[in-house]
Amino acid sequence: MIRVSKPKSLSSSWYLYGILSGMGLTFKKMIKNLFNQKDMPTLNYPEEKYNYGPRFKGNHVLTVKKDGSLRCTACMLCATNCPAQCIKIKASEHEDPTVEKHAINYEIDILRCVFCGFCEEACPVDAIRMGPEWQTPGLNGSEFTYDIKKLAYRAQLKGGIQSKVDEKERHQHGI
Ligand code: SF4
Ligand code: SF4
Repeated sequence: MIRVSKPKSLSSSWYLYGILSGMGLTFKKMIKNLFNQKDMPTLNYPEEKYNYGPRFKGNHVLTVKKDGSLRCTACMLCATNCPAQCIKIKASEHEDPTVEKHAINYEIDILRCVFCGFCEEACPVDAIRMGPEWQTPGLNGSEFTYDIKKLAYRAQLKGGIQSKVDEKERHQHGI
């Protein structure tokens, strides 16, 4: 049998004391913050936003080739490595016989994504990256399924981000 001994002091047996001391501390901090707003360790979101470091893994970006088409080769490595299984890719033959296949549909269910970055790590051609954007607002479920239009050509990307593979080729050929 476990015996619980009775608190000896009045301050530890009278619970109102704890409540009042907690409220007092909150009030003290509130007054301090009101008169020293510059020292407050909080941001006034959405007017003020936190600047994350360059390695931050936020919303996904599908990169493009120099001609603006998707870099993705539909190899499925990202979807295979995704622990949340939230990437769906539909591949098709390419009209160019030198290209084996390409993605005609690429979707990420962002509500299931855990932002682990495995897709980015698995991609052999820098076709998927995780960028600095982290805000993912939406009004209904369908707005959280990101398609090619959103992943590669959303307004914030200003026409698309070129894959490093293509940039390297351009330097090699002196273009
Ligand atoms: S970040 Fe992780 S969970 Fe999200 S799509 Fe990529 S692999 Fe899947
Ligand atoms: S994004 Fe990269 S890993 Fe995923 S299917 Fe396309 S080429 Fe393969």
